[in-house]
Amino acid sequence: MDIKKLVKPNIRSLRAYQAKEIPCRVKLDANESPYPPFAVHSSQFTVKKLNRYPDPEAKLLKQLLARGLKVKPENILAGNGSDELIYYLITAFGGPVLYPTPTFSMYGIISQTLGEKKIEIPLDKSFDLNEKEILNKIKNKKPKLIFLSSPNNPTGNSFLTSKIKKILEITSPVTRYSSPSLVVVDEAYQAFSSKKSFVPLLNIYKNLIILKTLSKIGLAGLRVGFMIASPEIIKEINKVRLPFNLNSLSQEIAVTALKNKRLLKSYIKQTISERKRLLNEMKKIKDIKPFTSDANFILFKVNPVRNKVSNGVKNADTLYKKLLKQGVLIRNMRGVIDGFLRVTVGTPGENMIFLKNLKKLV
Ligand code: PMP
Repeated sequence: MDIKKLVKPNIRSLRAYQAKEIPCRVKLDANESPYPPFAVHSSQFTVKKLNRYPDPEAKLLKQLLARGLKVKPENILAGNGSDELIYYLITAFGGPVLYPTPTFSMYGIISQTLGEKKIEIPLDKSFDLNEKEILNKIKNKKPKLIFLSSPNNPTGNSFLTSKIKKILEITSPVTRYSSPSLVVVDEAYQAFSSKKSFVPLLNIYKNLIILKTLSKIGLAGLRVGFMIASPEIIKEINKVRLPFNLNSLSQEIAVTALKNKRLLKSYIKQTISERKRLLNEMKKIKDIKPFTSDANFILFKVNPVRNKVSNGVKNADTLYKKLLKQGVLIRNMRGVIDGFLRVTVGTPGENMIFLKNLKKLV
């Protein structure tokens, strides 16, 4: 039987998200925190009623998050990672879905999965939003959803606040504009940025949705992400949310971790200072071009070798493979942004190993 013939056409042409486990000594490919905040032993937590379903509303977790963000619990919806919330947003509101490229690939993958139209707009030369083109497409194509990852994955930069505000203004339902859109500011990496969060702007822009996650700050294994938006938006998403999307243990451990934010914050600080050191060292290497980052990773371009029949894309592939041979796993951005590699900021020791091998190999 040819299974492919039974698959919906939009799924048939889809490529699965690349989340393979590749054996390595130093893992710097997935933008995780290198610091586990604590080990979890089964006796340490008090989920006594594992025979019961988890709290479908994740009430305690939402209360804690709301307090920290100075919003109300009604403004929050928790998900099994922010991936799940992206899925729900596109399920509930549909397309066209507009986003810049390169960016986090799940916006496109989920849009295609759900059969929604995608509007992709390349970033400008400095990896910032192409404001003119975005405003133009908003006018002509009337997207329902706009995803802006800021700081952006994989480029690492935050978009200019004024540009995001402009997009929010033109799509806001209170303006004269005839086709309002929802603007999702994905703040997965905001903890590592010097730029302010958009959360306080929720009072001004009713079409603003913010995504956050615990994955990048030390708890990727828990799968906890959350959305902050108006209660009206949350209410609509709740209609498509699976009833028990966040399991009891994740809820409980997330609550414990959030009560001990000082530890998480100290790791974030450490990552920021390591990022600076790593970038400075990478800048000294002649045949690569690293980019300034507001996130917990650094994107770098592999330059073509002069006077040789060779190109940057091939060189990036070769370097990626050679690093892996030495046990250092980073991310090859081929297909997303050809000729570029992305390295997650690790512990000082891990970064040393990466740098040592990088210097040797380029
Ligand atoms: N948004 C962005 C910009 C990301 O880079 C990622 C993870 N790669 C996510 C969302 C998804 O995070 P989570 O682990 O919460 O699903």
